[in-house]
Amino acid sequence: MNDTAPPPPRPRLARLKVDHTAIVENWRFFKTQAPGAAVAAVVKADSYGLGCVAASRALAQAGARTFFTATSAEALIVRKALGEGPQIFVLNGPAATDLDLFAQAKLTPVLNSLAQIKLWDARGSAALHIDTGMNRLGIGPDELTRAALALKDTTLALIMSHLACANDLKHEMNAVQLKRFIDAATLFPKAPLSLAASAGAMIGPDYHFDLIRPGIGLYGSCALDADNPSLAAAATIEAPILQVRDVQAGESFGYGATASAPQKMRTATVALGYADGYLRSLAGAGYGVLAGGRRPVLGRISMDLIIIDVTGCAEAAPGVMVEFLGPNAPLNDIAARAATSPYEILTTFAGTVRKIGARA
Ligand SMILES: *Cc1c(COP(=O)(O)O)cnc(C)c1O
Repeated sequence: MNDTAPPPPRPRLARLKVDHTAIVENWRFFKTQAPGAAVAAVVKADSYGLGCVAASRALAQAGARTFFTATSAEALIVRKALGEGPQIFVLNGPAATDLDLFAQAKLTPVLNSLAQIKLWDARGSAALHIDTGMNRLGIGPDELTRAALALKDTTLALIMSHLACANDLKHEMNAVQLKRFIDAATLFPKAPLSLAASAGAMIGPDYHFDLIRPGIGLYGSCALDADNPSLAAAATIEAPILQVRDVQAGESFGYGATASAPQKMRTATVALGYADGYLRSLAGAGYGVLAGGRRPVLGRISMDLIIIDVTGCAEAAPGVMVEFLGPNAPLNDIAARAATSPYEILTTFAGTVRKIGARA
């Protein structure tokens, strides 16, 4: 090994950049989309992997007053970030083990079952989740009158339901759920209502009610099967080139030798792999963006490495950063290429790179 000249310092890890201005702009887009409704911010799963402390603070500063998390532990983090004032709903509702946390952190539970209504026992105001067709969480149609009776001493901060097929604006299930929601809500005439998440908000004003609950839209994906140019990319992931190589025609790339060079090629080995949440399903489908061009992934994804085609790209050199998600590698496109959803790309890829960055 030649150790006379120290290598120049260079980035060695993938990094996530979160654009909080984009998150705020996206939140404002939902305000223009639903001018008659309040716009909450769904910050569960650490703001879909992007970091809920900074995202919640930016949104609160922009005027968001209502936040949703999945769990009470997440809600506690958001409460500490925001202080008292904003309302924080916990979608999964209370358990016997975290009732104290709800009281201490002034969290508002979403009550999803008769058992949770009984457990909460009118401790304070709560939201009620009515199931209108997802059969996931919420009070079913046969339990509604019992729920209304059991809640007669509880201040209802919100009556909510969730749409199963809103990503397809024309799906017949949307209207079915809308009708079931309106019918069920007549039992709770005084409570504010909420039905739509990001995609539901795009269906139309009938779906807006008093509050909409966008999550993925804040982080840059339209959540629809079609693209929405009004939303800005909030997450950018870049990873550094470790080596550049010349590869002869017929040589193969990586584990399993699943791809090979049809002619002489120049390749770059990048410090990014499935341990960073870069999914193996992106083998043969993913790309990195360097110097304005898409550079295809060659062969399988390794744990911490991938190979990309940089033939003819003079800018490719060790230490140079390549974009794998962001304005030039759009979330919906990467999700489609990975045969998954933008939600999974953000929580696994952005979420993992963020955690690794926090440790580095
Ligand atoms: C996750 C979630 C949302 C946000 O959904 P997006 O599609 O990310 O906008 C809203 N409401 C409920 C009940 C959810 O579980």
